[in-house]
Amino acid sequence: MQGAILVLSGPSGAGKSTIINHASDEIGEYYFSISTTTREPREGEKNGVDYYFVTHAQFEEGIKAGDFLEYATVHGNYYGTSLKPVNSALEEGKLVIFDIDVQGHRLVRAKMGDYVTSAFITPPTLSELEKRLYARATDDKSIIERRVKNAKEEIHALGEFDFIIINDEIPKASAQFATIANAARLKQNNEELEKFVKIWDN
Ligand code: ADP
Ligand code: 5GP
Repeated sequence: MQGAILVLSGPSGAGKSTIINHASDEIGEYYFSISTTTREPREGEKNGVDYYFVTHAQFEEGIKAGDFLEYATVHGNYYGTSLKPVNSALEEGKLVIFDIDVQGHRLVRAKMGDYVTSAFITPPTLSELEKRLYARATDDKSIIERRVKNAKEEIHALGEFDFIIINDEIPKASAQFATIANAARLKQNNEELEKFVKIWDN
């Protein structure tokens, strides 16, 4: 049995973490891919839980060693997905959830498109995004401004995704996410289809 990948992208502050946590009881067993980053931990974030926090030099060693399925520079920091735990989870037949940016989505789709279902999540408007980033109160004004500027560019990648979730009300957006996650599990890759046809034919 093979697993499946669900990529969740959207501007920082769109509600990706909130929605994954809220929907977690409805989407069965899954593996959340913990990314590696060079950004500073926010208050309350834990190494190995939210991210693996590393230095620039450590990240670049990882690149050289071929440790990353994908990596990108986002808001001036490196962010990357480690290949090994993702492969292990897929081999165990799990649904693997990625919270990565639009560049990461492109790279994962190019490498493992057969396994990928993707959703882009956004608040209803840019001003609502800004409001939530200020309300979250985890970043300085200059960092928030940078994230808002980045969001204005990211929104143009909407058409590259299978689904869009407008995160207006948390319960509604979480229910939509759970539907997408459960459908992602049912997506079959070509290898599995060929196996099925062989058995079916016998
Ligand atoms: P992301 O993981 O995409 O960066 P978060 O999940 O941290 O975003 O959400 C950003 C902020 O917005 C948090 O303070 C969260 O509580 C809040 N939030 C999330 N969804 C909603 C919503 N539908 N309405 C109002 N606030 C929300
Ligand atoms: P934050 O700093 O708010 O946690 O994340 C900033 C942005 O980086 C978000 O858009 C998030 O989805 C993205 N991101 C987090 N981890 C990864 C990763 O491993 N790869 C890529 N490409 N983007 C990531």
